Amino acid sequence: MVKMLPELPKPLLRLKIDRDALRENWQALDRLSGKARAGAAVKADGYGVGARQVVPVLRDAGCRDFFVAYCAEAAALFDLVPAASISVLHGPQSASDAAYAAAAGIKPVINSVAQARRWLDAGGRACDLMVDTGMNRLGVPMSEIGDEIFGRLEVDILHSHLASAEEEAPLNALQCARWREARAAIAHERASIANSAGIALGSDYHGDLTRPGIALYGGVPRPEMAQMIRQVVSPEAIIMQVRNVGNGDSIGYNATFTATAPMRIGTIALGYADGYLRCWSDKGQFRAHGHKLPVLGRVSMDMTVIDLSNAPDIREGDWVTADYALAEAAAASGLSQYELLTALGSRFGR
Ligand SMILES: *Cc1c(COP(=O)(O)O)cnc(C)c1O
Repeated sequence: MVKMLPELPKPLLRLKIDRDALRENWQALDRLSGKARAGAAVKADGYGVGARQVVPVLRDAGCRDFFVAYCAEAAALFDLVPAASISVLHGPQSASDAAYAAAAGIKPVINSVAQARRWLDAGGRACDLMVDTGMNRLGVPMSEIGDEIFGRLEVDILHSHLASAEEEAPLNALQCARWREARAAIAHERASIANSAGIALGSDYHGDLTRPGIALYGGVPRPEMAQMIRQVVSPEAIIMQVRNVGNGDSIGYNATFTATAPMRIGTIALGYADGYLRCWSDKGQFRAHGHKLPVLGRVSMDMTVIDLSNAPDIREGDWVTADYALAEAAAASGLSQYELLTALGSRFGR
């Protein structure tokens, strides 16, 4: 018999998700996509934000196309959006991928002749197709776009993916031209090449559908997008313990910080296991009630210590918020905006 327990205690850390900002970011990217519609990359659990949190917001804003990497990521969304609106970027890597996608009615993104054959063998119908126009990562090479097998597929979206959209690189125009060539060679319903940064490259890159990811969640891939994108995610944690330390006392692992005067400090429930990585040691900053609260010493696995010396009103049990605006946090930490988000762990309340 299962023992009845009281409700589980609430986590001591949470991700504050600004759903209005998320919706407005999608709307801004949809507008910037011109005649094309914006979809949404929600792989890797919605870039760490929580796919089940972000997908309903994007759906209600008008988003109709969702991109994940694995069938399992699609399956986690079946009660939220139609299976046919979900594309699986890795494609059918195995016969069981193909059988699952065909039965579930999700669209695999076909990346090779072998994947096309696997999909047809599984009796698969609608799918997407990825052409590699210069990234040399995943997708049908340009030398193979004439293969007769692609004519037997029911291609909804003909994709390619830009390697350097956040830069002024000659590769952008080259990839765009090859994508156009692929569009002429392979029958399809819709075409798509732009990620978040690619949307800012202009109408040549818009096709019928764009695939923003990072910018939905507050990332700023190109400086000119800074004005239109709002921060979505803020990690927050509870102060578990407050203490006073004296001149000469050190704080945390390896004693990297030593107080040179009496200080009031607080230990918060957030550590590198939650994605608040050690690069924030002696560098990160939190806020509460208008106070700035710098990180002191090393970030531990489940805890971080912050300076409360100038915040006498802050007590045990109070919530503090990490400075986590992605462009600024990336510049300060040396991590990419993508890593800052996808590192965020599973212990947060969302
Ligand atoms: C992840 C991904 C995107 C989204 O890219 P962002 O740079 O996050 O906007 C778009 N297309 C493909 C194929 C992807 O894998």
